[in-house]
Amino acid sequence: MKNKVSGSCHCGNIQWTIHTDVELDDLPRRKCGCSYCKKHGAVYTSDPKGKLKIRIKDKGKVRLYRFGTKTADVYVCSVCGVEPFFISRINGNDYAVVNLNTSVDPALSTEKYVKTDFSKETKEERLDRRSKTWIPKVIFEDN
Ligand SMILES: [Zn+2]
Repeated sequence: MKNKVSGSCHCGNIQWTIHTDVELDDLPRRKCGCSYCKKHGAVYTSDPKGKLKIRIKDKGKVRLYRFGTKTADVYVCSVCGVEPFFISRINGNDYAVVNLNTSVDPALSTEKYVKTDFSKETKEERLDRRSKTWIPKVIFEDN
């Protein structure tokens, strides 16, 4: 894939790279209005044809948090408190959405975004949407 963007939590324990054929400026920016994402001010992106590589330096310093329908894990760094991505396992496959505000590339603006509200979805609708819009290839790399 021709483009990539990387990021991490604040202390660097959780690192990620999205590989995509989409121009980085054209990657979606979605601001979720749910109570969790509002508190974090997160802006999410994903490419349903892309892939996400993840490297975690110390897995003991990552907390997984579930809420709502409990169908996705938020990866929260327990050292610095930043949440770089969500992963949802659907039919045995991991799908991810990334908080673009944790990108290390300062040129990747998240000032323009679409507001999303998924609060009225059923659990099935939610999983169906994720399987169509989230990143369908998640690769955990060893250190
Ligand atoms: Zn951290």
